[in-house]
Amino acid sequence: MDMLVIAPHPDDAELSMGGTIAKMIAAGWDVGILDLTTGEPTPHGSESIRAAETAAASEALGVRWRKNAGLPNRSLQPTLEARAIIAGYIRQTRPRWLFAPYWEDAHPDHVAATELVEAARFWAKLSKTDLPGEPYHPERIYYYFSIHLRLAVQPAVIVDISDEWEKKWEAINAYESQFITGRPTEPPTLMDRFRDDGAHWGRLINRKYGEPFATREPLAVDSLRDFL
Ligand SMILES: [Zn+2]
Repeated sequence: MDMLVIAPHPDDAELSMGGTIAKMIAAGWDVGILDLTTGEPTPHGSESIRAAETAAASEALGVRWRKNAGLPNRSLQPTLEARAIIAGYIRQTRPRWLFAPYWEDAHPDHVAATELVEAARFWAKLSKTDLPGEPYHPERIYYYFSIHLRLAVQPAVIVDISDEWEKKWEAINAYESQFITGRPTEPPTLMDRFRDDGAHWGRLINRKYGEPFATREPLAVDSLRDFL
């Protein structure tokens, strides 16, 4: 696997990096999503509704590998048991890169997910454990922005997703129970806000739509020609 996106809830991967996921899959990369919880209960969702929405969103982006780790929604904790489960997935899928939620957030599940991914990445390389698979260490962790705080974030890089916007939009629209049902219809709606966010990040790189990412370690490029 080239990229494994680890998300606290089904919809976080789509919201924050659906365009990038679709772009890399279209380029022939092997991209998987590991949702840590079902994301339920929510006011207008249910386990079956959310699962159907997740399947539709995966279809829109072209995602073939998607699993749910079955950890507890709303009370996700960076426990050793949860770390072992995620480390097991990392050892079995062997992704070159991991994607985790940005480290600063109001949602405790998101903060716990960041800590879990970082710890599980380290554990995945250990020998003499009872974890499944062989020791493995992903090269890098990148952080996506699916945050519940109104932060003026400074990303390390913004990916041009202008050509992938329609796929991302379809994937987000699939989560009707989360973003549309029961929400205020007065503009700007929540969906309007999502489009505005994509356009904002696009404008910063002189493109139509963009998706931001953060890193703790410096970025590496093969050539300055790779910059837009
Ligand atoms: Zn979430």
